[in-house]
Amino acid sequence: MENVTESKNFIEQIIDKDLAEGRCGEVCTRFPPEPNGYLHIGHAKSILLNAGLAKEYGGKFNLRFDDTNPTKERVEFVESIKEDVKWLGADWEDRLYFASDYFEHMYEAAVLLIKKGRAYVSDLNAEEIRQYRGTLTEPGKDDPSCNRSIEENLKLFEEMKAGKYQDGEKVLRARIDMASPNINMRDPIIYRVAHMEHHNTGNKWCIYPMYDFAHPIEDAVEGITHSICTLEFEDHRPLYDWVVREVGYEHPPKQIEFAKLYLTNVVTGKRYIKRLVEEKIVDGWDDPRLVSIAALRRRGFTPESIQKFVELCGISKSNSSVDYAMLEYCIREDLKLKKSRVMAVLDPIKVVIDNYPEGQTEELTVINNMESPELGSHTVPFCRELYIDRDDFMEVPPRKYFRMFPGNEVRLMQAYFVTCNSFIKDENGLVTEIHCTYDPASKGGNSPDGRKVKGTIHWVPAPYAKQAEVRLYENIVDEELGVYNEDGSLNLNPNSLKVLNNCYVEPYAANAKAYDSFQFVRQGYFCVDAKDTTEDKLVFNRIVSLKSSYTLPGKK
Ligand code: ATP
Ligand code: MG
Repeated sequence: MENVTESKNFIEQIIDKDLAEGRCGEVCTRFPPEPNGYLHIGHAKSILLNAGLAKEYGGKFNLRFDDTNPTKERVEFVESIKEDVKWLGADWEDRLYFASDYFEHMYEAAVLLIKKGRAYVSDLNAEEIRQYRGTLTEPGKDDPSCNRSIEENLKLFEEMKAGKYQDGEKVLRARIDMASPNINMRDPIIYRVAHMEHHNTGNKWCIYPMYDFAHPIEDAVEGITHSICTLEFEDHRPLYDWVVREVGYEHPPKQIEFAKLYLTNVVTGKRYIKRLVEEKIVDGWDDPRLVSIAALRRRGFTPESIQKFVELCGISKSNSSVDYAMLEYCIREDLKLKKSRVMAVLDPIKVVIDNYPEGQTEELTVINNMESPELGSHTVPFCRELYIDRDDFMEVPPRKYFRMFPGNEVRLMQAYFVTCNSFIKDENGLVTEIHCTYDPASKGGNSPDGRKVKGTIHWVPAPYAKQAEVRLYENIVDEELGVYNEDGSLNLNPNSLKVLNNCYVEPYAANAKAYDSFQFVRQGYFCVDAKDTTEDKLVFNRIVSLKSSYTLPGKK
């Protein structure tokens, strides 16, 4: 038996201890996205971690929108986030919450702090507050407004709420310690004036709580026991604890930080993705070159592959980057046993089998997936005119080229042995048609007399194949130059998208629907594009190629 305790991550160990010592009963976690963009692979880690812990401990998982900043938030993002969280398999049941649902409660909490002498209204503007705050090496200076009477503070805060002041004219600050070595504790702003419409509360409020004040309250109100966030909030934890304590919640939530997930050569930051979208460098938040959840889904990734990936990444306290190839490894592993293999020709040349009877068609049976017999089989028609890939023919072959060339015999996958006799070129020297003869005795691609052929190539039957567009992807940023330039701009890879618009797939894949995926023999895994596929046009995205030199860390 494995030693279960040892294989637990540090968060599970904290939870075990809290349960053992009676600090919490039922484990409650949450995922608290700000609805200011689409979710990406990094968020998937947080979602699966939080939902996974709730499940593991038989507790609850909430989805809560941190919508305290009306400038950047949009309903479109709320909807996309819900869809993505659901797709990943995290179930919030009936616990969908919005921070804005608690605005009244937060307001009352602020009033309570004022009454306790723990908060005051400040007249300083943003620049002055910065100056008064001090630096890492110098303490801050007291705000001239910090000694206002409780009555005056209550009146001014009420006036802030009533709309008497312009944006930035007054703020509410927590009274903590201007000399604290932790700058977050130097009388942080907890409420600001912002005359803005909110996607949920409309024009009801013109004051909005700051994140560091709002977040602990949201957690406490929902009975969250373990509030898991990323490392950059470590220095905010004393303030988190201060808010929970001063407002006086009976069951204080505990903040735990873990390292963000970063991927090499990939753009994860919402800010950067947003820029690519706004500058129309990509085709929306779901462009398959991105690593937003919507993009991964569109490209053909599965929730299982992302779960596997997150699991392999593990949970840690120190920042590091994971190789993008590991994500590719996970999707390849997931699709390997689940998907049918079909033949597709991405750059067609016509092949005519001169000795095959004109007008004849035979149905050949092929196994869908040799490793998963339960996936069954399908048929592919064979006839006189086929397409093969341009790569699979050479007029003058180099050494060790075993595919088709004049005089050479090759196997057409699952079909027959054929020998190339001649070919036709157009005026530009491009080969347009190849003529072969086949050996009827080699049906199924089996040698009739023990003679061997070295090359096996895939093909599709020309009259029955379905035309399709195929999109091949590379990283959107240039791997050699690095993701970011010195000025913060992105080093874009000009070849990140290659569109092949005259491809053919065998009839079995012709009626594929959005998100269906296949292994295209020798080419990789491909998924039907959900956005651009129409009745008349079939579009495939390459999810991942078949091979990689990638090996799992720790494995040979
Ligand atoms: P970004 O920096 O990409 O804009 P964010 O942190 O601003 O992301 P939020 O909506 O505020 O996005 O985050 C929701 C939750 O997801 C937070 O708990 C945050 O810590 C977590 N999260 C964000 N990015 C990552 C990441 N790369 N890895 C793990 N968790 C993340
Ligand atoms: Mg954020």
